[in-house]
Amino acid sequence: MGKIIAIANQKGGVGKTTTSVNLSACLAHVGKKVLLIDADPQGNATSGVGVNKGDVHQCIYDMLIDDVNIKEVIHQTKVENLDIVPATISLAGAEIELVSTISREVRMKHAIQEAKDLYDYIIIDCPPSLGLLTINSLTAADSVIIPVQCEYYALEGLSQLLSTIRLVQKHLNEGLTIDGVLLTMFDARTNLGIQVIEEVKKYFQDKVYGTIIPRNVRLSEAPSHGEPIIIYDSRSRGAEVYLELAKEVVHNG
Ligand code: ADP
Ligand code: MG
Repeated sequence: MGKIIAIANQKGGVGKTTTSVNLSACLAHVGKKVLLIDADPQGNATSGVGVNKGDVHQCIYDMLIDDVNIKEVIHQTKVENLDIVPATISLAGAEIELVSTISREVRMKHAIQEAKDLYDYIIIDCPPSLGLLTINSLTAADSVIIPVQCEYYALEGLSQLLSTIRLVQKHLNEGLTIDGVLLTMFDARTNLGIQVIEEVKKYFQDKVYGTIIPRNVRLSEAPSHGEPIIIYDSRSRGAEVYLELAKEVVHNG
């Protein structure tokens, strides 16, 4: 049965989508069957794995709002072992439409049940908010990975995320665990990056991944080619570190 991991942080630009796409592709690369679920109306994970949003007839919106079976919205990607439930801009309406829907917080969880046995890992790329799409993702997930950018105010907003996680644990998903905090966009040339690592480790202790994602220009170029880093430039530092993260995730069980 697949492990479901939500990649969440309500802050934008911290590396959620980059991590979702590249962790998924690297898990697939080491032989795991992976489903990536794009829960962000911007659909960056969708285009990041080379799926053209214009060609998508049914997406996660139809699954969440109209009860379309997940198997009908799963698309193959050009990465072996990696499938995706894509998002298009129609998902933008879901946040509001969900409010008046029956069992609005558990729709994703129920939808995923139908596909859980087909994959080793299901990775959910959350939007930059703590609204119903993120609540659905956390309710469906077994665990959560929190990307934190190595910058000023790195910890800002995290207490809000942690209290949302606690609320979900209390009311919706008792089994949800924090797999870990992932430090992203680390720049070894600045003292700031090192300070942030120390600060985050002091706060989260053993919940911080050993793998630290550096700033790597190839990682920022890959999405415009619709390719995860392992395909775009398998010899880059970006590919190396996301492969290392995939191994750490597998090792952690
Ligand atoms: P989020 O999904 O949290 O909003 P993204 O993954 O989209 O964040 O990242 C924000 C921007 O930073 C994107 O342009 C992305 O290409 C870039 N980026 C993310 N991680 C890295 C990295 N390790 N090195 C360089 N650029 C990165
Ligand atoms: Mg994103």
